[in-house]
Amino acid sequence: KPMGLSPPHIEFKRAHLYDINPVGVGAMLISMILGIIAYNGLLGIEAQAFSSFITLALTFVISPLIAWATKGRYYIVRPAPLNTGPSGSLASEQCGVCENIFEKPDMTYCPLYQLPICSLCCSLDAHCKDACRTEGLISNQFLIFVQLFFKSVRLRHIQSRAFKFAVLFSVNLGIFLSLIMVASVKTISLYPHQVALIETFSWTMSAISTIVLMVATWSYLLSMEGRQLAQDESQRQTQLLINEISAHQKTDLELQRSKEKADAANIAKSRYLERISHELRTPLNSVMGYAQLLEGADDIPLPRRESIKVMRSSSEHLTDLIEGLVDISKIEAGRLDLHRNKVDMLAMIEQLMYMFQIQAQSKNISLNFSHQKRLPETVFADGKRLRQVMINLISNAIKFTPEGSVSVDLKYRNQVAYFSVTDTGVGIEEEDISRISEAFVRIANPTYQVAGSGLGLAITQALVHRMGGDLSIQSRFGEGSTFTVSLMLPSSREVIHQPIVADRVIGYQGKTLSLMVVDDDAVQRRLLIDTLTPLGFNVIAAADGASCLQMLEQCTPKLFMLDISMPNMTGWELAAELRQRGINVPIVMISAEADEGLGLDRGGHRAEDAPLHNDYLVKPINMPSLLTTLADQLNITLQLAGDNTPEAAVSSIKNQIKNDPLIIKELLYFLDIGYVDGFKNALAKAQSGGRLNPQLCADLHRHLAQLDLTQIHSQLTTINDES
Ligand code: ADP
Repeated sequence: KPMGLSPPHIEFKRAHLYDINPVGVGAMLISMILGIIAYNGLLGIEAQAFSSFITLALTFVISPLIAWATKGRYYIVRPAPLNTGPSGSLASEQCGVCENIFEKPDMTYCPLYQLPICSLCCSLDAHCKDACRTEGLISNQFLIFVQLFFKSVRLRHIQSRAFKFAVLFSVNLGIFLSLIMVASVKTISLYPHQVALIETFSWTMSAISTIVLMVATWSYLLSMEGRQLAQDESQRQTQLLINEISAHQKTDLELQRSKEKADAANIAKSRYLERISHELRTPLNSVMGYAQLLEGADDIPLPRRESIKVMRSSSEHLTDLIEGLVDISKIEAGRLDLHRNKVDMLAMIEQLMYMFQIQAQSKNISLNFSHQKRLPETVFADGKRLRQVMINLISNAIKFTPEGSVSVDLKYRNQVAYFSVTDTGVGIEEEDISRISEAFVRIANPTYQVAGSGLGLAITQALVHRMGGDLSIQSRFGEGSTFTVSLMLPSSREVIHQPIVADRVIGYQGKTLSLMVVDDDAVQRRLLIDTLTPLGFNVIAAADGASCLQMLEQCTPKLFMLDISMPNMTGWELAAELRQRGINVPIVMISAEADEGLGLDRGGHRAEDAPLHNDYLVKPINMPSLLTTLADQLNITLQLAGDNTPEAAVSSIKNQIKNDPLIIKELLYFLDIGYVDGFKNALAKAQSGGRLNPQLCADLHRHLAQLDLTQIHSQLTTINDES
């Protein structure tokens, strides 16, 4: 090493070494042979005496000589990978076979596994046939050696069976014969009179050994070859497998790229649809809103009302179509966000029954609802989407049933809710059942034709799947169908406040309240003014954020309705400004965006800060939900048409408010421990949160004023037992 004839470092990894380095092996053999010659006295008596020293000294001379002659090329067969990391420290790596972590100097790269491998696993691996260093194999080295003398010799000659047999057989025979020879010479020296016998015995032994060795060597070679063949085959298969894996990886990559492209196109499509829908919704909102207003106006002559009805239903159909397209494209692009809220399934279906009753009655179909006796009060679900699914199924059932009945059934077992809608309608042919859930597929029925877009079931199924549920369809052509949605909906014990059932609202209880509408679209402003003014609200309209802020110097609205997309200052920015000015009255955001407002840019407002808005409405605004929102946010009681007295109207709405069993339990608890202040606080909170029936609140207040706690206790206990 100091002479620079060998590499500066000591390599120990098999994967980087030649089988034989002539420097060491050659020096050992030459010095050994010369030492033996000297030992036998062939080089004189002095050399015989110093034979061990001669052997030792020779190695020191011959080693550098051979290293110099071979230019040190038989030390390292291939360079080792870099040992250090980028910072110069010893990097570590995981062995691809044993999965242990080693420092880089202990690691190498295995071309067979195509992985980094530790030197131990590398040494123990027998079936790789040293694929990483074929040049360094003994057969190759031997060939190079032989070729020094016989140029025409090739690897195939050396690897031929005959050559291997000749080499193996002669080496073994040589060893055997020398052993027999040494043994017979020794025996003859002990028994000089038995020379003839010993010689005969030795010859016989030699002949027998030769035959046995021949057979043994041959069978050994054959078994070696068999093993070699098996190993070659396994390696060939491994290689094929590796090729296949890399081909799969390539295909996978291509697939991934195509998928990304398709996804991007899908997202672009859904964005485009959303934009278009925004543009379409805004004018449609005016058409629908004015149609709604005109339909309810008393001074419109009856024949005109029919035309207005057509106008409204056509705009509703268009809105449905637009919403369907946006929904389906959003679902396809994986952009549909699900929300988790508490849903009272029973109240929801009852509400839908109420909603569809008129439609069913107009077709002379009976609409029934049955449900399991014990149902959770509320479940966790995306209420809006669940409602959408049920609306699609019930409206389809009514649509495709010329006569008979539509029945909705609700069951709940082990946290799974089963909603089934059964009709006695036209039914579906068996071969069509699998197709009807595809988008735009409508089954032509010559005897019963109805209008539709073919999107409803596709959306329903996609929504159900997105919610982790299943939609099953059973149908018999001409007899009817059953659509069953099964969804895992964990139950929650809390009660939620249901929106007021839609009816014709004619006003509200209490003094006149001012509302501020901010929308850059004059038609939209007019629509809200025309809808809300007759109900007794004082509607102040502003065309943009700046004029709204200016007007605030003269008025103090009790609620703001802000359009989101306005030039100069968006609805979110205006909401932020209002909050910054310390205005804490409710803010209802209104937009034509199909998104629920969660994914929208909120003018830099962070989600973790206190929310800017209190509610969100999507255009075209549905009047009952606008009124319900106003009633909730302003804490007012709406008056319904048809109620004889204001008191009756109030109680009709009030009676729809249910008592929250948890509140009842809480109140009973305060009574039991005699904590009257706690009771009063809980009662006030529940009352303002709309979690107790107002009639009950009034009773409790009356009894409380008289400190009639026994009466309160018995009333609450009765309600608690009933629930
Ligand atoms: P649309 O109702 O707008 O036509 P849907 O996607 O909701 O679109 O329904 C697709 C098709 O499935 C309908 O055209 C109809 O042929 C069939 N279908 C859906 N519901 C029922 C039902 N309850 N009874 C019979 N056929 C139905």
